[in-house]
Amino acid sequence: ITCRQLVEQYLARIDAYRHLNVFTDVYDTDALQQAVSIDQKIAAGTAGRLAGMVIGIKDVLSYAGHGVRAGSRILDGFTAQFTATAVQRLLDEDVIIIGRQNCDEFAMGSSNENSSFGPVLNAADPNRVPGGSSGGSAVAVQAGLCLASIGSDTGGSVRQPAAFCGVVGLKPTYGRISRWGLIAYASSFDCIGPIANTVDDAALLLEIMAGADEFDSTVSNQPVSAYTQATLPNRPLRIAYLRDGVESTGVDPSIREATQNKISSLREAGHTVEPVDISLLNYLLPTYYILTTAEASSNLSRFDGVRYGYRSTSANASPLDLLSLYKKSRTEGFGVEVRKRILLGTFVLSASYYDAYYTKAQQVRRLIRQETERLFEHYDFLLSPTTPTPAFLLGEKTGQRPDDDPLQMYLADIFTVQANVVGYPSISIPNGTNTGSGDGQGLPIGLQLMAPPFAEGALIAMAKELA
Ligand code: GLN
Repeated sequence: ITCRQLVEQYLARIDAYRHLNVFTDVYDTDALQQAVSIDQKIAAGTAGRLAGMVIGIKDVLSYAGHGVRAGSRILDGFTAQFTATAVQRLLDEDVIIIGRQNCDEFAMGSSNENSSFGPVLNAADPNRVPGGSSGGSAVAVQAGLCLASIGSDTGGSVRQPAAFCGVVGLKPTYGRISRWGLIAYASSFDCIGPIANTVDDAALLLEIMAGADEFDSTVSNQPVSAYTQATLPNRPLRIAYLRDGVESTGVDPSIREATQNKISSLREAGHTVEPVDISLLNYLLPTYYILTTAEASSNLSRFDGVRYGYRSTSANASPLDLLSLYKKSRTEGFGVEVRKRILLGTFVLSASYYDAYYTKAQQVRRLIRQETERLFEHYDFLLSPTTPTPAFLLGEKTGQRPDDDPLQMYLADIFTVQANVVGYPSISIPNGTNTGSGDGQGLPIGLQLMAPPFAEGALIAMAKELA
């Protein structure tokens, strides 16, 4: 099969699965052109390592000459001037980009329901959410609309949708992959990460995207190892598992059982597997949401209706009222969740509340980091379910009905945010399906592993063993 035929097949499939609302743009002409030139390179023996790999990118990654909207109306009509470093590195190895994938607005969400393009549907059950914020990227792989996707993970956005869709999602160490060209949500948490069918594909994509970059001052200069060749140390491993992930009644019984089964098989393989409690578990979500909304309120201040995309036409033009132009453009351009978070973030950064919330949350972040560091003095990995429940129903947690608890949605991230708060690498791999007799039977379940900073090699090797 040629790359051209491959792209044609994917395009036909994308067309057949339009109802899932996965792609915001399909780069049919570009992708076919790329394919033809890569076919020539293959014939000439000069093709890169990713020749033949067809991927999609989340709508928060810049790709020169192509629109990028971050799922938001406020970037309507905006075209990227340059290409994200991670994306460029893949292109340099002859990847084919077939399109741009739907996501929650500015990557804020856990269900892909906060997108101005409308929700993405889970291919396992179209009445259910795909998870978020990289929902389109996960469903694209789940439904075979491309081989792999590139998403972003600020608090679980690669791993949680991967779990809901039965695919692999990898969040590397903070700073492992350059953030240049990634539209910022919360800069000290944001990570680019691959979503794929197999751990091997995710490892290959990571290997190519990772490494130093002069355009991102927070990227690490540590050499990138050959993640695709990674092996486990030749000794019994010490694995901690989150006691709550297996015992808490807040976790779906079949997820608890599936996690317990993995623990048993690890023990049978001769590893030490022990329960641990994270004493600061209850502080993870508040810390995460205070700090990320603070960073978001600052990052999103650049969308003022003047410099990028959408501009309100209802502001007073003559004489020009600049303040009303800002206000109207931002009110009309941002969706409800984004506005809520900008307000929250602005509040926690305001002079009278800064110490009570922002400073406090920074202190708690340090305590969580210390506790996590101590844990990894004794263990090689931390294991837990990726999510407390399988994919929930569309509309179930949007908090739109009067009695709804607006915080319900945030609980979907309880197990994923720790890795972002401390900057450690973490992966979600498929762990069977929901076997319960009730609701949601047959839905995918995810297992999450976390490793110390820059231990992606070991993380990948362990994930392969468990997959
Ligand atoms: N669901 C989390 C949030 O809404 C995580 C999002 C993400 O990782 N981008 O912030």
